[in-house]
Amino acid sequence: MKVLVIGGGAREHALCRSLSLDPDVTALHCAPGNAGIAEVAQLHPVDALDGAAVARLATELEARLVVVGPEAPLVAGVADAVRDAGIACFGPSAEAARLEGSKAFAKAVMAAASVPTGRSYVCTTPEEIDKALDAFGAPFVVKDDGLAAGKGVVVTDDLAAARAHALACGRVVIEEFLDGPEVSLFAITDGRTVLPLRPAQDFKRALDGDEGPNTGGMGAYSPLPWADPKLVDEVLETVLQPTVDELRRRGTPFSGLLYAGLAITSRGVRVIEFNARFGDPETQVVLARLRTPLAGVLLAAAEGRLADLPELVWRDDAAVTVVVASHNYPDTPRTGDPIEGLADVVAQDAPDAYVLHAGTRLADDGGTVLSAGGRVLSVTATGKDLAQARERAYAAVGRIRLDGSQHRTDIARQAAEAPEA
Ligand code: AMP
Repeated sequence: MKVLVIGGGAREHALCRSLSLDPDVTALHCAPGNAGIAEVAQLHPVDALDGAAVARLATELEARLVVVGPEAPLVAGVADAVRDAGIACFGPSAEAARLEGSKAFAKAVMAAASVPTGRSYVCTTPEEIDKALDAFGAPFVVKDDGLAAGKGVVVTDDLAAARAHALACGRVVIEEFLDGPEVSLFAITDGRTVLPLRPAQDFKRALDGDEGPNTGGMGAYSPLPWADPKLVDEVLETVLQPTVDELRRRGTPFSGLLYAGLAITSRGVRVIEFNARFGDPETQVVLARLRTPLAGVLLAAAEGRLADLPELVWRDDAAVTVVVASHNYPDTPRTGDPIEGLADVVAQDAPDAYVLHAGTRLADDGGTVLSAGGRVLSVTATGKDLAQARERAYAAVGRIRLDGSQHRTDIARQAAEAPEA
């Protein structure tokens, strides 16, 4: 089967890596891709947000399946354009992707489906905002209603800052604060059957100890030894299946990847957010643990045949990914720096550690890899447990040289030391 992947981050590199290892995949293409993806797929300089152009490319390539990585193309209707061209697409329609594209819509769906989430108000006027902030008290949680690439949410004890963010957003969701550890749980669905993957945890803050500003994610690990083994079943029953059923009932079935961002609070599991696509960097660790070849699963979801699929098979291994980011990420990341040592990782650590590229590109000399974004690499490793996986991941990070780069040193540290639940 010929497969086209849309996107160009480490998540798409992880998807392409898994697809390239799948014996059913005869040709792998990616648009626009990056320097690492170029090693496993043929790249095409097509705008990921242009549905007509993506559908045309998929048709030209005679792709059997298109896999859309990021949220922006989904919200822009790229999956609809591909399906309209008669090609199977893994990724929800623009209508269903509103689950991620509008926090107010997600809250309405959750209310209708009785999915546990934080109490919230949707506000547009200063009066409504003040009333909601007053009702919940500190810490304040203020979320821009629309897509904001992870930067639309402010959690603060400072009432003035919360108020200022709310006023700047226009339409906002103001929510009760949810305490407790966060879990990311992905599920593959065809709009009816829901197949949960293994849970992961990501690290959103830039600096060790969860200090510093929010980022797109600085690392992730899976499994979660501290989590209740019944968590996945519980979330399937109380969150994932009811949400998928509610969207089908509304006539806008959700097919693709449903991502539940969860808080494990003292009062039980609560949904913090939904995303309509694989999360980055959690995908890097979840796919590292999946043994079942990926293409057949994604195609079955795209074609509405998940109920017929055998159960997914997982490795017992643990996986850790550490993000290497540019100088000055996330504020004003510096790009264009050469990255050295990539070959050393392959030579010394393969296949237990490997480098997934995010913001990279090939220099004009065709050989040097240059940084081209804020998050540059996702260095990923597997091992018999989290301690071994993190040791290998950090050893690989140590072999890579990128001037001014930064990474967290505490990814999965606590979890690797935690007793099992
Ligand atoms: P979101 O974009 O909704 O995932 O929010 C980004 C991050 O803000 C989450 O991963 C949480 O760390 C934090 N956050 C969001 N909503 C809440 C909440 N109600 N209580 C506490 N933290 C939250």
